[in-house]
Amino acid sequence: MLNDTITRAERELYLTLLTLAQQQPSAYEWLTRLPTWLNDIKDKANYAHAPAYQASVARLPVLTVDKVNLDSDKLTIETTLTSSQRKQTMALLKQLMPWRKGPFQIGRDLDNENTDDENQDNKNTSEPIFIDTEWHSDWKWQRVAPHLSKLKGRRILDVGGGSGYHGWRMAGAGADTVIVIDPSCLFYHQFMAIRHFVGNNDDYRTHYIPVPLEALPEHSQLFDTVFSMGVLYHRQSPFEHLQQLRGQLVKGGELVLETLVVEGDANTVLVPHDRYAQMNNVYFLPSVAALISWLEKVGFTDVRCVDVAVTSVDEQRQTEWMSYHSLADFLDSNDSTKTIEGYPAPMRATLIAKR
Ligand code: SAH
Repeated sequence: MLNDTITRAERELYLTLLTLAQQQPSAYEWLTRLPTWLNDIKDKANYAHAPAYQASVARLPVLTVDKVNLDSDKLTIETTLTSSQRKQTMALLKQLMPWRKGPFQIGRDLDNENTDDENQDNKNTSEPIFIDTEWHSDWKWQRVAPHLSKLKGRRILDVGGGSGYHGWRMAGAGADTVIVIDPSCLFYHQFMAIRHFVGNNDDYRTHYIPVPLEALPEHSQLFDTVFSMGVLYHRQSPFEHLQQLRGQLVKGGELVLETLVVEGDANTVLVPHDRYAQMNNVYFLPSVAALISWLEKVGFTDVRCVDVAVTSVDEQRQTEWMSYHSLADFLDSNDSTKTIEGYPAPMRATLIAKR
């Protein structure tokens, strides 16, 4: 039997926007575009794999979930898995590979052994499924979270939120509403797979719209906090991206910007000629000083850099759930401070600013 996870999530998203529109008329514009957004992601003319991803989500078994831990580094759905449920779930989740952002766990740690031997298949609890993603996204969250204005009660937009890992963490931190946006059809369905098991354990405070930032109505001013993490360097027009982020914030709202940076002064910007760490869609890598001045130029105030970290090969690596090359393959094998193209190795900064 197929589950109705995606339909239910869509309904909750409509209801959230409808409620919001009663206080903030700009949300009506979102409501008018929502049918198109949600249809486009299902259209195999746009995304050849969409029907297969949808089918994988729809076939996930319905499990009894005891508890969901959205505020733990290993985002955990506590449930009892029989070995056949485990096998089925594992196979379906693997159809949604590569899993890049996480980690997630479905099941229960087997510390107190259950030796009920009546019926092997139905009674025995299997070990949990651990989705060990390419990225330790929990490490990024640990770097960012301590510097944020309290998320409790806030309305949040996470731009380029990938699988939704950080979005769930925001809900776990008490956010009133979280909307993750990302144009990736695969990541949208990974979110829905996790949503399937989370069910209403977050009171449907966490939502996902499969669109890029540019598709949103420009001056919505709907959000108390807007995150853009790992997106700016993929944009050809960084100033447009910053302006679009600003347009989503309420006055006094907080922007959290995380992106690749280089060493240097306010006039230093690296534009890789070709690939950067094997990525062919990387455009602007400013210094922290340059980034601060960009943010001020588009009108942000109280701009501060709260963290700078070189990305380690323990944070981004190949796993069972992401079998392609990863960071270690993209660095110079004789000098890990350089990418294989000879650029400085990935270093990321987190900046916080006010609208
Ligand atoms: N925010 C997550 C994921 C970063 S990966 C993290 O920090 O770990 C970058 C993501 O940005 C990808 O999932 C990609 O699909 C998304 N993305 C790329 N262009 C975008 C755009 N114009 N608007 C929103 N998201 C975008």
